[in-house]
Amino acid sequence: MLNFALGPVMSSDLVLKIGSEQTPYFRTPEFSKITLENEKLMKEMLFADEDSKVIFLTGSGTSGMEATVMNVFTENDKVLIVNGGGFGQRFVDLCKLHNIDCDDIKIDFGSCLTSQMLEEYDNKGYTAFMVNICETSSGVHYDIDLISDFCRRNNLFLVVDAVSSFLADYINMSEHGVDVVITGSQKALACPPGIAIITLSGRAVDRVNNNSCKSMYFDLKDMLLNAKRGQTPFTPAVGTLIQINARLKEIDKNGGVESEIKRISNVAYDFRLKIKDLPFEICASELSNAVTPLHPLTAKASDIFNILKDEYGIWICPNGGDLEDTLFRVGHIGALTTKDNDTLINALKDLEKRGII
Ligand SMILES: *Cc1c(COP(=O)(O)O)cnc(C)c1O
Repeated sequence: MLNFALGPVMSSDLVLKIGSEQTPYFRTPEFSKITLENEKLMKEMLFADEDSKVIFLTGSGTSGMEATVMNVFTENDKVLIVNGGGFGQRFVDLCKLHNIDCDDIKIDFGSCLTSQMLEEYDNKGYTAFMVNICETSSGVHYDIDLISDFCRRNNLFLVVDAVSSFLADYINMSEHGVDVVITGSQKALACPPGIAIITLSGRAVDRVNNNSCKSMYFDLKDMLLNAKRGQTPFTPAVGTLIQINARLKEIDKNGGVESEIKRISNVAYDFRLKIKDLPFEICASELSNAVTPLHPLTAKASDIFNILKDEYGIWICPNGGDLEDTLFRVGHIGALTTKDNDTLINALKDLEKRGII
């Protein structure tokens, strides 16, 4: 199997090996050491301030989005959300569900956020801003400097969903003034799904501690308390946390977050060069290194997805809904190399020879 989807993705041999081992009991100093080390490495890789805290929540990435909305906002907030696709819409739906006052900046699918769009929202009484920095459904990577400037001049609390972007694109919590970064185990961390990682600035920790969360499982206050000793209130995805530990240490050993971003951006750049001669259009501006969205000019996207999966053992990432036939995505995260790009390009060339595309 060769997997170019956007989560779950291909794992390294080390992560796979750990997955085949027995899951240990976790209320031990040995396991606490692992989670505390995970916290330290996450903070380093996100350039988080000393007083920030990291929460490992057992659930998919969306659990991290929902827990954030439930724990950092109150009825006194007014949140501005960048909505350029499926994940932006998810933040809007979550705020509405939890009765948090919000407005969204609607962005055409595949387009970027501009300073002109933001200027309309200056001095309008907002207290917070939410963005999926890579809107994975379209592949667009929004300009974090632009967003950071806007939030600073309007004194907004900034929440960034970097679920697909962490380790693929540069983000610096201190420099960009980010209060919450959400990511997940099954994207560029290249582990199985099951853990959402929420990194909170000191300001975000204060918000959590002063809030009352109407949930037992999603109460981050309780998690912060337990996290001090490297534990969680309830049984976490123990095996996945051990895999995350191995993976974070692997990245650290290989030159840290900058090297990993460079590695992924090289794979993306290589793919975008090689796809040029085939009948596809790259259809977004300002792309994340995590993904290339492609519009096939001569065939249905869903047919290409099915044929590659069934006849070549290669997985690309289909789009859903209205875009099912017109768009698919190729991911560059996970244990992929430029050689793997060649395998995919050769399969696509074969489809061309067969008259399928
Ligand atoms: C994958 C992803 C999520 C989380 O999705 P889950 O299916 O809940 O893991 C959230 N935001 C973005 C931008 C994503 O790419």
